[in-house]
Amino acid sequence: MITAFELKHKSKTIITSESWQKQMAKAFRDVNELLAYLELEPDDAKRSLYFPEHFKLLAPRPYVEKIKKADWDDPLLKQLLPLNLEQQTSDGFSVDPVGDSTAGIAKGVLQKYHGRVLLITTGACAVHCRYCFRRHFPYAESMVDKSHWQNTLDQLLADPDIHEVILSGGDPLMLPDERLAAMCADLAAIPHIKTLRFHTRLPLVLPQRINKGLLHWLDDLAIRKVMVIHANHANEIDDETGRALEALARHGVTLLNQSVLLRGVNDDAGVLINLSKRLFEFGVLPYYLHMLDKVQGAAHFDVDDAHALSLLKSLRQALPGYLTPKLVREISGERSKSSLE
Ligand SMILES: *Cc1c(COP(=O)(O)O)cnc(C)c1O
Ligand code: SF4
Repeated sequence: MITAFELKHKSKTIITSESWQKQMAKAFRDVNELLAYLELEPDDAKRSLYFPEHFKLLAPRPYVEKIKKADWDDPLLKQLLPLNLEQQTSDGFSVDPVGDSTAGIAKGVLQKYHGRVLLITTGACAVHCRYCFRRHFPYAESMVDKSHWQNTLDQLLADPDIHEVILSGGDPLMLPDERLAAMCADLAAIPHIKTLRFHTRLPLVLPQRINKGLLHWLDDLAIRKVMVIHANHANEIDDETGRALEALARHGVTLLNQSVLLRGVNDDAGVLINLSKRLFEFGVLPYYLHMLDKVQGAAHFDVDDAHALSLLKSLRQALPGYLTPKLVREISGERSKSSLE
């Protein structure tokens, strides 16, 4: 016979022990299934749906649960639902809008700016963001891989100017802990590297990823750790995400946020003000508000400069300076991100 205590304990373990990998396996990959779950009729779609061959719908359930049912205009849904608009070509929009293809200094290693290198650690993401500037990135031939890893380390070791390594992708937190922890330990062992920075959306789209295993190896890394989460809207930060963020902060991770300014999602002063406030409830500081990178397929998200600058002005008037992000864009070939002001 199972006692009530055991039963309670058992059901609790079942809920909390579902690994993030299992959650990923259950993610929505079918547009019609997603729409049925959200109580939306495909026929009512204001704009026609798109069923792409590549860069298909991908949305984990914990993220989808934050979407309001029966609302085509939900700002989270808009970030992940493929629309026919993506097939339009627009002037100035290209497959490599930020010059990544010419910034490689080795396989999977990009350097555009002084002192910082960026590693393409994986092509995998937990969610396919329709505005992604790397949606056409040739990951297969441009990732750091195990066979080149020692070369990559040797190269970083040989350049004492490099003080920060940025782990990007894809999403670096899609790598298994063993792989990521080993990679980070190797980087942290290089004396002139002082900071490891992770760019990730996982605390927002799959907070279960911030588990004990991850926190444990982060603790063991004797190096400054920064995590830049990519939240675009306050609705992405529910209590579970909040707990994941607080856990990261307790384990010594500096938390920053980078948003992309997206038409129909967050191109509104009230929305951006709420986002800054919500981030700071969990100790996250706004870092960049990024203009859309002009990637083919994302033109319908573009916001013009004049509107962006007026939004920034409203943010300044409503928020303390430390909660006002820097409004920037990336211009291929420049030595830093460029401020719009
Ligand atoms: C954006 C970017 C960085 C980071 O720039 P910060 O201004 O330090 O945030 C570094 N390397 C590459 C290739 C980048 O695109
Ligand atoms: S998580 Fe980042 S890299 Fe992945 S699709 Fe979204 S924006 Fe692109």
